[in-house]
Order: sequence, then structure tokens, then C-alpha cells
Amino acid sequence: MCRGCISQLFLQDQFYSGGLAGLLGQAVAMPTRRSFMAYSVGAASVFSAGAQPAFAAGEGADLILRGGTIRAMVGAPAASAIAVKGGKVVAVGAESDLSGLRTNDTTIVDLAGRTVFPGFIDPHNHTLLASLVFELLDDVGYARFPTRDQLLGHLKQEAGDTPKGQWIVGSNFDNLLQGGDLTRAELDAISTDHPIFVWYTNGHDACVNSAALTAAGIAEDVGDLPGGGHFGRGPDGKLNGLVYEESAMLKFAVHFLGKITPEVAAKATTDYARHVASVGNTLLHEPGTLRSDWIEPFTKLAGTLACRTSASVMYGDTKGLEPYIARGLGKGAPVDGSLFSLYGVKIVGDGSNQTETGAQTKPYLNSTSKGAPNFDAAQLKAMVAEVKALGLPVQIHCNGDETIDIALDAIEAAYAGATGYGVNRIEHATMARPDQVLRMKALGVQPSFLMNHVRLYGAAYRDQIFGPERAAFMDPAGACVKAGLPFTLHTDGPCSPPGPLALIATAVTRRCIIDKSIVGPDQAVSLDDAIRAVTLDAARQLGQGDRLGSLETGKEADFTILETDPYTVSPDAIADIKVSETWVAGERKFAS
Ligand SMILES: [Zn+2]
Ligand SMILES: [Zn+2]
Repeated sequence: MCRGCISQLFLQDQFYSGGLAGLLGQAVAMPTRRSFMAYSVGAASVFSAGAQPAFAAGEGADLILRGGTIRAMVGAPAASAIAVKGGKVVAVGAESDLSGLRTNDTTIVDLAGRTVFPGFIDPHNHTLLASLVFELLDDVGYARFPTRDQLLGHLKQEAGDTPKGQWIVGSNFDNLLQGGDLTRAELDAISTDHPIFVWYTNGHDACVNSAALTAAGIAEDVGDLPGGGHFGRGPDGKLNGLVYEESAMLKFAVHFLGKITPEVAAKATTDYARHVASVGNTLLHEPGTLRSDWIEPFTKLAGTLACRTSASVMYGDTKGLEPYIARGLGKGAPVDGSLFSLYGVKIVGDGSNQTETGAQTKPYLNSTSKGAPNFDAAQLKAMVAEVKALGLPVQIHCNGDETIDIALDAIEAAYAGATGYGVNRIEHATMARPDQVLRMKALGVQPSFLMNHVRLYGAAYRDQIFGPERAAFMDPAGACVKAGLPFTLHTDGPCSPPGPLALIATAVTRRCIIDKSIVGPDQAVSLDDAIRAVTLDAARQLGQGDRLGSLETGKEADFTILETDPYTVSPDAIADIKVSETWVAGERKFAS
């Protein structure tokens, strides 16, 4: 799955008056004086990691969190207190060790037995797209409506509550988990008086009713559209309501998606950031929905959000990026001292395994189709060489193993032996083979796994898409640990629900929650390894390992505080642990 990586449907310029840059720029204020001050204090600190800072007499910590479990870094012994000054960690230890940092001005936070981790990072979450989807569209997905009957019942109720002639629009429909493809007849049974459009969670498809076809002016004899858009037909040759790919979906979207105002865009992003903070994230990385001309306004907005943000731009959108690179940005540097940073360039190498468009070296189960990469080997080589010439790392979306082959060929050809470019990443790397894990290790390339694939689709991969043997090696985190290859875990929001705890739990258990089965037990990893994949290794994959990802002296004071220590519960219970607070740069951003 990767709607975000594939479909920019809701980021088309036609939905924005004057482009998102103008919109966001008007809607958000400059960073506050306070956040500038915090940054300048932080920038003046030159504590080396691991060393205790020296303080002048009378100087103390701004903040001390005490009375809980501080899990400062994976593998390190737990401490009970942590001190912060100027938004950075200045000491971690027993409370008595930190007593010299306590003054009358120090704020004391009693953890009351709670557990503090370095802030959890989602290294691949389409922040802008997810924000707009959550803000503007009704969620009809599996999490809300696990059965087809519940879904259809909800749509029926919507039709009853909506004036005739107005659109009913749903998103996140999951054909694998909610009973197969929708049909025009099913949606006609909901209403013939309202146009209905239901967008699939895979991002490539939608289903519409007859009223929607009429409203969009789609006649029975419609042909294929440029850009791959086409319409499904039943055995009788008539339109069956299925709509494929962006150019076809746009025929409908222009009727129900009004102009996105600055207020809507800013509010959507603000609400989404608050939501991801509430499930434990302190940093989201946007892999390629942001465009270079949106960097300035987004930087301003970033200072007001409940979590840090980071972004890569899509290949093809790098025009305008040069001034930022010339200022030493990219590869993880914060833009103008803000909570927003730039990383690299994203390329989408293939499609989705759920729609059998990921490119494999062997056919899908019960099929002769192997999918096809979006670019051939020569094209991809030229594209990756262009990214390297910009001085930036590359992130290549590869769901199938054939795509990983040509992506690694391209990375080897461009970057082999080169240093200083940041970590080159394979996004998803879902069907990576054992030899490809070893090759990534040899090339210094790292995978980022959408571990909710196993949680939601593990059984479908095993029974419908790949068969048991290949599904057992999907998202092969265990093989990475054996090879000494760092990996990270992501949600690919809005393609799966935000939240690091479900990713951690699934990496440890390999449980598919749909049928409770274990998919690929050999690929399970330890809790240490799973947490590292959403903290320190995630920070490193965004070029920020020197500032984020662990709680060491001199690093940013980003915390995720959990009610319960995941090391004390059964792995299956980890996903349900309550997030108590999140902090960014020493400021509380969320409290339950
Ligand atoms: Zn993707
Ligand atoms: Zn994506």
C-alpha cells in the first residue's frame, strides 16, 4: 500500500487558489520570540554526548522529571530522573545525582511511576496529505467499520442525514478487509438521489454510484483517460462503478472537493499533528508530498504544530530546492532553526502489493502477473544520479523485490564509495529477499518497513497474494537484525493508522490482528530492536541522529511518556499502552 507515495490527488494545484504556499503563508504566524530564544540557547550549547555539562554557580536546570523510569537509550540501564535546560537534556541519572541542578526556578515534574522514552519518530508519514484526508473526508475504513454491513449501514445513515443532491464521500475503504470490491449496484442501493464516491485506502481506486457518474458527466461509452485513468465494467459490459487511477478519480473529486482555504490547510495540519502527538509521536517525516515552493510557509506553520516535522521532496519537484541546499539544508538540518527539517529526494519505484502492482521477480499467487516497476533500470539509474548530484540522499519506494533490485543497482552506481550524503533508504522494502538484505548492508542502504502491513494484511499476503513461504519473509526485520542492518518502522499515514506502539508490538509479535495468526515468526525482533527502529535509528535515517533519538546529554529534550513500561507487559498488550504526554525541545506538547 502506498496511497501517499502514489496518489497526489488532493494536492493538485487546482484545489488551491494561488498554490498552497500562498495559503499557508497567510494563515500562520512567524515563530514566537520564545521559540527563537529557546533555539538560540540550544544552539549555544556545546555539550558533547555522554559528557556531563559544567555549570557556573547558581545555574540550574529549567526542568527535572523525576520518580519514574527513564529509558534514555536502548540497551542502557534505566534511570529515574532527567534534567533539561534550554530545551536540551543536561543530565540523566538517579534523582540524587541531579540534585545539584535543582534551583528555586526549576520546574519539577513528578512522573509517578510512568516511563519516559526518547520521542517516538514516524519516519514515513504523509503529513500534508494525511491531514487533508482526515480533515475533509469521512473515514469509512476498517478500523471504524470492520464489516461490510456496518459500512453500508453507515453510508445509508449518511444518505438519510444529507440533503438530496449533495455528495456523500468516504475514504479509507479497504477491499482486502471489508469484503471485496464495492459495486455501483451496492451504492445505488444506498441512494439514487445522492452522488456517492468511496475512495480506497490503497489510493489507486474508488467506487461510485449512478448518480455520481451522472454528476461527473461520465457516459456509458467512456474510454480510457490519459495518465492511466479508466473505468471498470461488469460481465454485461456496463460500468460497474469502479474508477481507477488519479486522472479518472479527478473527474469526480472536482465536484465535491472545494477550494482548500488557508485556514482549512493550516487547521488540518494542526489537528493531525495534535492527533499524532496523542498517539506518541514527536516527529513526523513527510516523504515527498511537500514541494519545494511550500518549504517557507510550512516552516512557519511547523513552529505552531504539536510535533516536529521533516520532509523530503518528490523527484521532479526539486526545482527551487537549490537555495536550501546552498544554505547547508537537506540531510536533516532544521530550516532556519525551526522544528522543521529537510532530508532528501523521494522516488516512487513501483505500486502496491495489495493491488498486485508492486514489481516482483516471481508472479503473485495464482496469477501470471509480476507487476511492473514505474521506471526501467536505466531510467532509475539516471534519476538517482541526478539526486546524488544535488548532494542529497535518495528514498526509493519499493514494494516488490524486482524494484529493490533495480533501486539498489541505481544507488550502487551513483553513490558507491561516496560519503557525506546521509542514509539512502528503501521505503517499505516489503518483499525484500534475504540476498537483498545483505546487499543493503554492504551498500550502507537502509530499509524502512510499513510494519502495519503485517498487522493488517499479513493473513491476506499469506492466503491471497504471495502464499505462506513468501509472506513469512515480508517486512524482514529479523533478517536485518541478523545482518547488523539498521531498519526503521513507519505507518505511511494516511495508508495505515498513525501510532508507534502498534508498529513496535507488531515487530515483536508478528501478529496479524485480522485472524490473530503469527506471520513469519522468524522475522520477529526484540523489544529493544523495535524501539530503536522508532527512535535512534529513525532519527539517523532522517539525518538527525546527532540531535534526536536518544536521551543523552546535549540532545534535544523530546520525550514520549507512557503510562506503562512496555518492558513489563506482554508484547500483545504493548499496542494498547496509554500515551501520557509528549514533549518537544523541553516543552509539553500533549498531555492526556
Ligand atoms: Zn510508498
Ligand atoms: Zn508513502
